[in-house]
Amino acid sequence: MNLPLDTHHASLGTASITQRLGHYIGGKNLLQEDGRSGPVYEPASGRLVAQLGLAGMHEADAAIHAAVAAFPAWAELPPLQRARVLFKYRDLLEREYDSLAELITREHGKTLTDAHGELQRGIEVVEFACGIPHLLKGEYSDHVSSGVDSWTLRQPLGVCLGITPFNFPAMVPMWMYPIAIACGNTFILKPSEKDPSCPLRLAELFSEAGLPAGVFNVVNGDKQTVDTLLMDDRVVAVSFVGSTPVAERIYTEANRRGKRAQALGGAKNHLVVMPDADIARVADALIGSAYGSAGERCMAISVAVAVGDAGDPLVASLTEKARVLRIGPGVRPGVDMGPLVTDSHRARVLSYVELGLQEGAQLVVDGRDCRVAGHEHGFYLGPCLFDRVTPAMRIYREEIFGPVLVVVRVPNIETATALINQHEYGNGAVIFTGNGNLANWFMRTVQVGMVGINVPIPVPMAFHSFGGWKRSLFGPLHIHGLDGIQFNTRLKTVTARWPEASSYGSEPLGF
Ligand code: NAD
Repeated sequence: MNLPLDTHHASLGTASITQRLGHYIGGKNLLQEDGRSGPVYEPASGRLVAQLGLAGMHEADAAIHAAVAAFPAWAELPPLQRARVLFKYRDLLEREYDSLAELITREHGKTLTDAHGELQRGIEVVEFACGIPHLLKGEYSDHVSSGVDSWTLRQPLGVCLGITPFNFPAMVPMWMYPIAIACGNTFILKPSEKDPSCPLRLAELFSEAGLPAGVFNVVNGDKQTVDTLLMDDRVVAVSFVGSTPVAERIYTEANRRGKRAQALGGAKNHLVVMPDADIARVADALIGSAYGSAGERCMAISVAVAVGDAGDPLVASLTEKARVLRIGPGVRPGVDMGPLVTDSHRARVLSYVELGLQEGAQLVVDGRDCRVAGHEHGFYLGPCLFDRVTPAMRIYREEIFGPVLVVVRVPNIETATALINQHEYGNGAVIFTGNGNLANWFMRTVQVGMVGINVPIPVPMAFHSFGGWKRSLFGPLHIHGLDGIQFNTRLKTVTARWPEASSYGSEPLGF
């Protein structure tokens, strides 16, 4: 049985273990009375702050039912009127900028600055979606044959499902639902069970902006919940962002069931340092990219590739800068890096540090002993830097997703590029150099979806599309931007003639 709540805040309250979180279905917060639940932690203190209902068949069905019911009217609403709801939503997101960032920091652990940053990138997608009347415009060909015209239109799909990871509880969902909804679809979001409060609040605000009940629903849960939603024939499209094994499985399963799917997976992003680059500036960029958000970013640089004699000065500069990073709760001003999301995730990252030592890499900065006074139970891990890493090592090949940067030394740019091209992941790659020709060659040759030239985190803006190559993305289309419009609509092409009444009956049999 599910109990409606007046507002989501009734379930948030002050942090305590009695706090309960549920779902947002049909324009209402619902607490789940029966069934499974899971813990939500505050990583900065290690405290259990909430118990989250994990949706079963009943809740999944209620959400799908609400989304199916809301679809016809929402799809029929002129795009301009849908855009007006998005404009209002954008204003409410601005109004709630600080409170949303606090929710993110509390459950994810990242600094408030970083939480604001991810919200900003999410709001930019809403701004992009506000242009939906223009974005849905089709093509028109006048007079393709005698008295015949042809044109295209893009129509919505129906109920779309989004499944998102813990590391961007606002931005990644906002890569998906504003565009899907602007296109006339209804949407069910299954956010990460590790930091569910911000997505729930995002749904409440959309209702406040005037979105009809059932157009946007949030169903919390885990693998079992995902499977229930994925198996349902009423869900026609699936967007996934998370780890590669899950991305591949969801993409395959969705395709097998005839659903449209895009599934973004893991990453191992390389940054190539040419000997002509300003090493101190590169080191600053690398520190921000590798250790920002405790390395829990899909576009974090986790491999620095030092070309020629760049290696020694780079490692020296990185060592100096990594050692002075300030670790602590994300809400504390001046903190550079917060905790990892859960204790088990920290244990996993720590196991990779041990593995690197066993594999023979040199641990030049060791963050394993990190202690934060007054927060002894928080999930902290200091920055770790490995030098002399080789491509055969697992710490090079596998995604660690924590504050661990590895340095690989290579003789030239060709070897650096070949390394990246042979890696199973192909999300982003970066080059730092003063040589424009070389940067251009690298940009054209490297086999990844997003390239940075003297830019350490080359995340595309909302009006471009985000996505990797190889095992970082399953499906032909990237997310948001024009690919997002394409993914969330079906193309219809019309060929029309209005013959004179006298010409009926004189059609040839030809094609
Ligand atoms: P995850 O794959 O464990 O979980 C992602 C989502 O899938 C969550 O909602 C989770 O509940 C659900 N899920 C987990 N296991 C499942 C299963 N077996 N079947 C069905 N659903 C399942 O990922 P995470 O730990 O939350 O996030 C970190 C990962 O996400 C990293 O690999 C990171 O690189 C990746 N990521 C990629 C991008 C990108 O744009 N490519 C962006 C952000 C994060």
